[in-house]
Amino acid sequence: MGTAKQKTPSPRHLTRFYIDGQYAKPISEQTYVLHNPKDDTVVADAVPIGGPEDVNAAVAAAEAAFRGPWSTFTAAQRSECLRRLADILEDRLVDILTLDSLTTGNPVSLIPSREKTYIKNNLLYYSGWTDKQKGDYYPADDGFVKLVRHEPLGVCVGINPYNSPVASFIIKAAPCLATGNVLIIKPSEKSPLGSLALAPLFEEAGFPKGVVQVVTGDGRTGALFARHMRVRKVSFTGSVATGKKIQIAAAESNLKRVTLELGGKSPAVIFEDANIENALTWTINGILARSGQVCVAASRVYVQQTISQQFIDAYSERMKEAASRLGDPQDFETTLGPLADASSFAKVEAMIEKGKIEADLVVGGVRHGDSGCFMEPAVFLNPRPDAEIYKNEVFGPVAVIKTFETEEEVVKLANDTEFGLMAGVFTRDITRALRVSSNIDSGGLMLATFQMNIQAPFGGKKISGIGREFGEYALRSFTEPKTVLIK
Ligand code: NAD
Repeated sequence: MGTAKQKTPSPRHLTRFYIDGQYAKPISEQTYVLHNPKDDTVVADAVPIGGPEDVNAAVAAAEAAFRGPWSTFTAAQRSECLRRLADILEDRLVDILTLDSLTTGNPVSLIPSREKTYIKNNLLYYSGWTDKQKGDYYPADDGFVKLVRHEPLGVCVGINPYNSPVASFIIKAAPCLATGNVLIIKPSEKSPLGSLALAPLFEEAGFPKGVVQVVTGDGRTGALFARHMRVRKVSFTGSVATGKKIQIAAAESNLKRVTLELGGKSPAVIFEDANIENALTWTINGILARSGQVCVAASRVYVQQTISQQFIDAYSERMKEAASRLGDPQDFETTLGPLADASSFAKVEAMIEKGKIEADLVVGGVRHGDSGCFMEPAVFLNPRPDAEIYKNEVFGPVAVIKTFETEEEVVKLANDTEFGLMAGVFTRDITRALRVSSNIDSGGLMLATFQMNIQAPFGGKKISGIGREFGEYALRSFTEPKTVLIK
């Protein structure tokens, strides 16, 4: 089982797809150039854009792998492969994430502590689930025994966003493979390198060739997968606009299963009895993680009037200080990096400019330094009810703070949005916390914190998505029940 250990390839060599157990020469001749957002230097000059023939080749290899030796793997063997991959990544993940950092701008200093643990724990968690897909049994009180099996779907495709490519890859791969499916990853065009480097390690861990593949490209490549008649599921993470297109493509092709993990405008609600220091720590972390480029960014902060001056002063001061942490993401001293590329920077900058008309900018919101995509963390106050900066996802280090007087008022404010991903509540009153957690309309509530946990389902209500990742729920989304009726 497994292939010989390979060194993490340099980005210049990652000019191929990973199909059927090898780096495959693209059939499509279209390529593009990737830049480092810290200084615009070229990182990779010929990243291939998968065309119809490349996509067909990957789907054919995936189908063959699904029917091949992989279909005979026992639950224990699948579990062992996932665990072995976690072991391999103990040594290799830092290299892979460092490679990714060249295009995501995510600081390498945060890799060993946060990212590595998170990714490894995902693999270990799902390695424990492979033999627990129990199914159901209904007694023969009417003369028929009813058995229900949970079967894998077959060829699944993960279409990923740019902000945390390797974590997104593993979040999809672990439950997908635990349940016996095969997976093709279409990483974001902005950050494909880590995914390409990760792919061969699955075979090193014992997964047969073709079980995990990577095809790079932009939205056109993603759309080919979303419309493909032999793809059985698309697990998508990205923007609302693209999520809608994927849902339509699935409906218009073969009604493939779709899960959509989309954007958010997550509220953090701070009541007067909260531990202020804890609330400050989590809300600031919540908006500055990956420079605000996370779906669960704490981008709307509601603070109770009685403590608002104290909170806003401290919050603004810390966001101002954070600008001095901006720096070279490849330097181990840096904890806050640039936005992922010039187009992300331009989008955030334009929203800030418009925000200045619709709210009061009190901190930051300007380019940092002379070059690169560095945006100083911004704080807006007093937004107009319909201000774009307050209503829409910025996907950058931009927070809007609004004050409130009563619990009823803040629940109404928090729910006055089309998004429904996550929300945070800070109070020492557990009765109030639980009441507010029922009344805020989102996929999840975080009490006294602002982070997710892999054991519990994660996903959005309303336009923030369809379906759930993490926990046992992710396993269900990669299987289909089949009933066996026995007379
Ligand atoms: P995006 O929608 O622009 O792109 C995501 C992926 O979709 C990319 O791989 C892209 O190439 C592909 N794509 C684009 N058009 C397509 C099409 N027509 N058909 C198929 N695929 C297509 O998103 P992004 O800018 O990369 O990522 C940022 C967004 O992702 C934000 O909205 C953020 O909130 C969201 N996000 C959500 C979660 C979550 O778990 N809910 C996690 C991370 C990011």
